[in-house]
Amino acid sequence: MLKKIDHVGILVASIPEALKFYQGVLGLSVSGIEEVKGEGVRIAFLPVGESKIELLEPLDKESPIYRTLEKRGEGLHHLAFETDSTVDCLKGISAFGVMPINEVRQGADGKEVAFLHPKQTHGVLVELCSRGERV
Ligand code: ZN
Repeated sequence: MLKKIDHVGILVASIPEALKFYQGVLGLSVSGIEEVKGEGVRIAFLPVGESKIELLEPLDKESPIYRTLEKRGEGLHHLAFETDSTVDCLKGISAFGVMPINEVRQGADGKEVAFLHPKQTHGVLVELCSRGERV
């Protein structure tokens, strides 16, 4: 059902500031920067082997992740697993009574994503994503 760890999301106050470390010190390269207006977030992708680091920066103070940044500061935000189909994956886990926070929706990088609440996953916000089969 799960294919690999697609990416690790890291919440940062400023992507340019964070790149001083991830690019400048660790030597990773940015493969793209994207804004997901509906989520109020700007995202920078930095591939590492088969996976990516996803730096998340709030677009403004209305952004849901802005509140998280205020409350908890920068740091690990979510862990994303790639699946063949996010929709099918959710159907599978719903049999165990585990429900996503939201319906499947279009996320960054043209993917279909859904999130599982940390209360259901032993403390980690889990993202399930797949190459948008319905798009
Ligand atoms: Zn993500």
